Amino acid sequence: MKSIYDYSLSDLENYFFSIDEKKFKAVQIYDWIYKKRVNSFKDMTNLKQVLINRLIDEFSFEHLEIISRLDDVDVHKYLFRLKDDNKIEAVLMHHDYGNSLCISTQVGCNMSCAFCESGRLKKVRNLTPSEMVLPILQIERDLNIRISHIVLMGIGEPFDNYENVIKFLDIVNEPKGIELGSRHITISTCGVVPKILEFMNNGKQVNLAISLHASNDTLRNKLMPINKAYNLKLLLDTIKKYVSKTNRRVTLEYIMLKEVNDSIDNAKELANLIKGINCYVNLIPYNETSHIEFKKSDKERILKFYDCLKQNDVNVTIRREFGSKVMAACGQLRSNYEEGS
Ligand code: SAH
Repeated sequence: MKSIYDYSLSDLENYFFSIDEKKFKAVQIYDWIYKKRVNSFKDMTNLKQVLINRLIDEFSFEHLEIISRLDDVDVHKYLFRLKDDNKIEAVLMHHDYGNSLCISTQVGCNMSCAFCESGRLKKVRNLTPSEMVLPILQIERDLNIRISHIVLMGIGEPFDNYENVIKFLDIVNEPKGIELGSRHITISTCGVVPKILEFMNNGKQVNLAISLHASNDTLRNKLMPINKAYNLKLLLDTIKKYVSKTNRRVTLEYIMLKEVNDSIDNAKELANLIKGINCYVNLIPYNETSHIEFKKSDKERILKFYDCLKQNDVNVTIRREFGSKVMAACGQLRSNYEEGS
């Protein structure tokens, strides 16, 4: 049985059209599910009983199982069990501007970035749209809050699950449904160039973040194997195209790894590399994990790196650290649960 949460509004309209029902039924159902937050067709009092029976036979409202929730200051980390027993994570962060949810897009990840916990489990499968939508609904209910921002920065590479991610965006964007504005959503990619171009042509106003993490190809090849397929020149040329076509500023993420990519020379090289691109750099303090040998840069070194970028006219911010106590780095919760460490 198909999950009702896999359906965009236009999918549902097509469904009703195919069974000779009026299209507006789709809007009514969206209203019940996403505005009134009802999770059974039986509660949809403006539908006829025959139709209710038919919908019950065809669609499921099944939710995910919340295996655990870890709380820290301003952060809640969830581990969910999927129907096939795979596990995914989602992290809710309270900011002064609202509540932001970091969601996963795949079970495991094939990108094999050297510093990342997620890639220790190779991709098992893509998440379906409903498996990305349900954490939003369930966490809102669990914490009795509304989520204002979504970041696709959990486990997985969103552009390696392109179609389902686009469907997910259609569902959460829908004004008659969850109504999350595109500008409140950020997709982060390690740099899958053909998909960045496809996304550019898709016309969505969603924010794009690129995991750069290195200031030259030698270093990036070591940290991120994707660089061997799409090197820095190609990636940056693609980003330039994206910015000029969409008129939107991109974020470049740069994890600060102690004595790996955090020297002043790296900062100068980075400033030079991105000169003239409408972007801002987000410096990310590395979240150390017990399974990987990289260390986090000292605060002082991060600040020097930051100052150097500023002096070179780069827009730069340092990401606030969340939840090192709750193992907030992608993949940490799942792997500790599986491996019992
Ligand atoms: N695959 C996508 C999105 C998931 S990772 C991407 O690569 O962008 C989201 C971000 O978290 C990426 O910038 C990733 O490099 C970073 N990240 C991974 N492990 C981390 C860690 N231990 N500490 C801090 N950031 C990490």
